[in-house]
Amino acid sequence: MGALLLIASSSAHAQSRPVSPQEPPSPERQDHRLLLYNTHTAERIDIVYRRGDQYISGALAKLDFFLRDHRTGDVRHFDPRLYDILSDLTFSIGHPDGEIDIVCGYRTPSTNESLRAHTTGVARNSLHIQAEAIDLRMPGVDTFKLRQAALALRRGGVGYYPHSDFIHVDTGRVRQWCFDCPASLTTGD
Ligand SMILES: [Zn+2]
Repeated sequence: MGALLLIASSSAHAQSRPVSPQEPPSPERQDHRLLLYNTHTAERIDIVYRRGDQYISGALAKLDFFLRDHRTGDVRHFDPRLYDILSDLTFSIGHPDGEIDIVCGYRTPSTNESLRAHTTGVARNSLHIQAEAIDLRMPGVDTFKLRQAALALRRGGVGYYPHSDFIHVDTGRVRQWCFDCPASLTTGD
């Protein structure tokens, strides 16, 4: 058994190509950059948050602040794999490092409850409360295509909100939903 494991690991090493489900479409990509626009605060950020397989902690802190609950000012540390999803999404739709509009980032439990009371489509245990979800759209990119690209990544949950023109991505289990969608959009999913 030990010998088998040794053989397996040395042959993987000989390939010299890291194999990981979190690996971006372009493994040679060194700098992982995000350009974000916050639709609530009108702030912009242009930041390299990861170099190779190393996250840059100062950059993560800036992103956490950027994605704060804009109603309360509360900041929570985001799961950085969410940033990889955003970065890889821009690549897979052919807009590498394209600007992403952030519709919603972190939500305190009180903000989530308030949203639930005033709007539909807000989950009680939303992953926004855990800083594991982001709602977004991309200027110049059809949101339905963005949704298809996010689904193809198979890296977490993907929600589609066609009436509000955004998608939700999170680092939870792989699943999907379409909020208040016409039947034509939900068939064949
Ligand atoms: Zn969401």
